[in-house]
Amino acid sequence: MTGPDAEIEALIALMARLPGLGPRSARRAVLQMIKRRGALMEPLAEALQKVAATARECVSCGNIGTGDSCAICADERRANGQICVVEDVADLWAMERAGVFAGRYHVLGGVLSALDQIGPEELRIPQLADRVRTGQVTEVILALNATVDGQTTAHYIAETLEGSGATVTSLARGVPIGGELDYLDDGTISAALRARRAF
Ligand SMILES: [Zn+2]
Repeated sequence: MTGPDAEIEALIALMARLPGLGPRSARRAVLQMIKRRGALMEPLAEALQKVAATARECVSCGNIGTGDSCAICADERRANGQICVVEDVADLWAMERAGVFAGRYHVLGGVLSALDQIGPEELRIPQLADRVRTGQVTEVILALNATVDGQTTAHYIAETLEGSGATVTSLARGVPIGGELDYLDDGTISAALRARRAF
C-alpha cells in the first residue's frame, strides 16, 4: 500500500493540525488544492507567506492585524466611548460579523484561571485599566463567555474598574434567537427569566 509522496503527506499532516480539519478533510483539501493549483494553491501559498510575515497583535487592543494598530483601532469613525472586552480574537471577529457594535475592543487573551495559573498580568487587564483611565471611555461592555472562569474574570474586571468613572455592563444571557425552551439547559432558562423585560 502506497500513499502520497512524502512531501504531499507532510502537507496533509500539517493541514490536519488545523482546527476543524481531521486527516480525511486535510487529504481532501490538499487534493483539491493540487487540482486547482493556479486558482487556489498558489494564491493561498502567497497569502500564507504574506500573513506569516506581517500578522501581529495590535498594541492597543490585542486584535490581530498587519500593522502596529489594527484596522478597528485605526478607524476614526468608531466611537471611543465604548470598549467591548472579549476573551479571544475569534470573539472579536464574531462580534464584528454581527455588525452591530461601533465602538472599540479589548482582547484579554484568555480568562483568569487558578488551575492554569493565569492571573491578571497574563491577560492584558492592566492595559485595559490604563485605557479606561486615560481615555474618554464611558462604558466597558463585558462580552466574556458564560463559563465559570469567564464570569470570575468579569467580576474581577468590574472590581478593577470601580471608581474609573466608566459604567461596566455585560451581554445579556438567555434564549438564543431561534432557540426552543425545551432544548435549553436549566442555567440558561434561569438567566433568561432573571433578564426578562417588559414586552
Ligand atoms: Zn486594535
